Amino acid sequence: MLFLGFGLGLSAHKDISFLWTLGLLGTLALVVILMARWQVRVLAEPLSQLLGGTRPRVIEDLPRAWSALEQENVDLKERASREDRLLPGIMARLEEGVLLFGATERLEQFNPAALRHLGMGAPLVKGMWVGEVFRDQEGLDATQRAYGGTPCEWRLARAGRTLRVRAIPFAPLGAVSGVLLTLDDVTSQEALETTRQKFISNVSHELKTPVTAIRIAAENLQEEDLQGSARSSAQSIMRSVDRLTLLLGDLSELSRIESGALHLAPVRLELVAFLETLMKDLQPRGAACGVALALDVQAPEGTAIQADPLRLHQVLENLLSNALKFSPKGGKVDLVVRITDQGQIWEVHDQGPGIPEAEQGRIFERFYRAQAAKAKPGTGLGLAIVKHLCRLMGGEVAVESKLGEGATFRVILPPQVEPQEPAGPPIR
Ligand code: ADP
Repeated sequence: MLFLGFGLGLSAHKDISFLWTLGLLGTLALVVILMARWQVRVLAEPLSQLLGGTRPRVIEDLPRAWSALEQENVDLKERASREDRLLPGIMARLEEGVLLFGATERLEQFNPAALRHLGMGAPLVKGMWVGEVFRDQEGLDATQRAYGGTPCEWRLARAGRTLRVRAIPFAPLGAVSGVLLTLDDVTSQEALETTRQKFISNVSHELKTPVTAIRIAAENLQEEDLQGSARSSAQSIMRSVDRLTLLLGDLSELSRIESGALHLAPVRLELVAFLETLMKDLQPRGAACGVALALDVQAPEGTAIQADPLRLHQVLENLLSNALKFSPKGGKVDLVVRITDQGQIWEVHDQGPGIPEAEQGRIFERFYRAQAAKAKPGTGLGLAIVKHLCRLMGGEVAVESKLGEGATFRVILPPQVEPQEPAGPPIR
């Protein structure tokens, strides 16, 4: 517009102005055409790439990516269906029966072995209440404990067989959301165990009479005026008879406990009086070993407990005699007793050689004697007896020890404290 006005207003230079204007208009038109061409190219290029010509790699790879995705989908489906079939396949082949009860105590899953083991007239059905499957009180109590988070085990007699049932809290997401039960047929193991127990019981019983006869004969011999090797032979017979008597005593005791023939006879026990008797019985042994025996009682004054005095005495005597036996001369053994509403804790500490960690789990087995203890007298049955007696009393025994730093045996029994008169200060 500016150029146009300029051109129209100057008539003297009309021709030159006209040419000027024309030139400028031409330049302007050229610039517009060039810009338009550039815009068209920018817009048209992607379109041409879409419709042919040089296509980008993303578009080229699309079909390949699509078919890979499809293949992956097929693989996933196959894997999922294989896994779906895997679990029932494993469950079906298991010899152990498996049952899963859900949060509402209803049966959610079970395998054919569970059906076989339980041998019920009416078959198992999903949705059954746990009490319909296990009608015995022991089973109901055990599953309740498992729902509370404590794994349990019990024996169940079904269709002439003995089953070992384990109830395991089922908590895949942290909190207990059910109970998993496994069933093992242990009929033949139980029969074998019964035969073993009977054999040990019979052997130890039958050997008692000849051993007593040998003891009497050896004692008679020792009363004779024997000389030299005859005298030392009589002494050696006597020592062997002592060891045999100890072993036979422990063996018949263990077989009585294991066979269930031993029954506890709990009575009301005055704690302090009971401990005084125990200490009196063990002081001479401590003195003979040169080891001091100390007692620390943490319980309200006048505490009485319900316990079988003979068996509780036997447990503590076993632990204390071991502690004295393994302590160095001049050492000290402590018996610490704590009686609270939560339970009874009986601890025996010694300053002996300690027990290597690798052997701590084995010392409660029958006949197991730690390598370092072989030089000391013993049968290897004492702790097995202690373990069984503790279980019979509803408790447990455990050991804590570091090599070279002594050992602590801890017996934990359930609370059985009788109602007290007004509690006094603790006795030390
Ligand atoms: P034993 O008749 O051999 O003492 P036990 O069953 O009482 O049999 O003990 C088994 C083993 O445990 C012992 O042989 C010993 O190796 C180990 N043991 C038990 N008590 C102690 C202790 N207080 N210190 C070190 N070792 C111990």
